[in-house]
Amino acid sequence: MKDFTAYLNETEEIGFVEQVADAIIHVSGLPKAKPDEIVVFETGEFGQVFSVQPSYVEILVFSKKQVKPGIRVTRTNEVLKVPVGYELLGRVIDPLGKSISGIKPLKTPSEKRPIDTPAAGIVKRRSVTKPFETGILLVDLAIPLGHGQRELIVGDRKTGKTSFLTRTILNQTRRGNICVYAAIGKKKLDVKKIEEFFAQNGVLDKMVILASSSEDSTGVIYLTPYTAMTISEYFRDEGKDVLLVLDDLSSHARFYREISLLGKRFPGRNSYPSDIFYTHARLMERAGNFITEKGEASITCLTVAEATQGDLSGYIETNLMSMTDGHLYFDKDLFYLGRRPAINPFLSVTRVGRQTQTQLRRDINREIMSFLSLYEKMQSFIHFGAELNESVKATLATGEMIIHFFNQAINEVVPINLQIMAFSMLWSNLWRGHDTAVIRKQLHQILEAYNSDKKFREKIDKLAESDSFNKLLRVLKVEGPQIIKAVSQKYGN
Ligand code: ATP
Ligand code: MG
Repeated sequence: MKDFTAYLNETEEIGFVEQVADAIIHVSGLPKAKPDEIVVFETGEFGQVFSVQPSYVEILVFSKKQVKPGIRVTRTNEVLKVPVGYELLGRVIDPLGKSISGIKPLKTPSEKRPIDTPAAGIVKRRSVTKPFETGILLVDLAIPLGHGQRELIVGDRKTGKTSFLTRTILNQTRRGNICVYAAIGKKKLDVKKIEEFFAQNGVLDKMVILASSSEDSTGVIYLTPYTAMTISEYFRDEGKDVLLVLDDLSSHARFYREISLLGKRFPGRNSYPSDIFYTHARLMERAGNFITEKGEASITCLTVAEATQGDLSGYIETNLMSMTDGHLYFDKDLFYLGRRPAINPFLSVTRVGRQTQTQLRRDINREIMSFLSLYEKMQSFIHFGAELNESVKATLATGEMIIHFFNQAINEVVPINLQIMAFSMLWSNLWRGHDTAVIRKQLHQILEAYNSDKKFREKIDKLAESDSFNKLLRVLKVEGPQIIKAVSQKYGN
């Protein structure tokens, strides 16, 4: 950007700071200021026009440094733009595009894009048809997602939301897709931890981390999801499938509320401004599956919302639910019971994911959901202390096994074909009578063999291409024991 005098000569309009209320500043004397236009202060700070009033304009400032009344201000005729490009991969940047840290030497990209653009229209959109893999068994098998889907990740504090998302990013980057992780007003330490997690797993150079910390000015935090979306759009236009994670929009709503209250907007429900829905909906609209000059490409958007005390009917949560294509509910009660991930499959929804599934995956999906609900019902028998007959006992035992099967370690991601095979093997009772610890160990070995042994992988991939679940189960009667035997021999147990 140019400096204050250059802009002053260009626009020939000079304003003065009248009033300062944290991130919102009133400036008089800029009659031609437009909404979202950038203004510069003579002290070098800059801000964005937040609203235009008859006698003054409201400016949202992007610096922590106090701006004092009386300081001169000028317009720029520019809107806020951030640098976008492949140079950003492997870097941690702030919402204004400045680099914070990263693994590669810094090179600033030459292209810049405005951060707030209208969403692409209907002509450029395609329906969601490609399955999206998270690498998490419970989600991919029971609540499947599609590329271009917008899914809300909702749950109480500390229920494993971020851990789920970091693993999904891990899986997606390994599949060659680009990920953008936006940390909105998080603690610096948490962002550092996330950066280290990706660096350790060697995928940092396939993603961009965008971070604003709670120490940043409210104005900068407010920009975070928009910048993240703009960067995602760049990669989408390059023909890539992009995963965008917004962690989290509840905090974003709180910061937006703060700005609005400082700007003396009329407080609506829970003191949020009345345009909070519009603000978020306009952002979420920019995700989806598109047709670009370089082919079909998508932005899958996983948005986090924090619930309080398991209440899903909060204002921001229900708002976000209505502008996404479903939600995964992280249940704190399940978390306390030791379920990892603590996703409640009955309270979770996926509106477009199922249409991307093959017949086989649809069969499995149906089987799992109907079995889990049967298992839930049966569990109430235990509470009555009733005498259990053999079939109920068998169902409970299988249920236990399946619940254990869905428990996943903190850095474990499982490829979809292996998920299908492992579940089918479990379902066909190959491990009947075995301890869950033994099953876990063997599943681990199968995963290891899949990752390291090309022939083994090809075999599993071929089996997972069956056209129906029944057919697969029939084949597994012969193949299943052979797989277990091969793995046992390989790892010697
Ligand atoms: P916050 O509200 O702070 O954003 P969150 O919902 O994002 O929390 P996480 O930070 O992901 O939750 O996880 C909370 C804790 O649970 C962490 O200490 C994490 O190590 C643990 N945890 C989450 N998932 C697993 C897992 N699969 N296995 C073991 N531990 C887990
Ligand atoms: Mg979190």
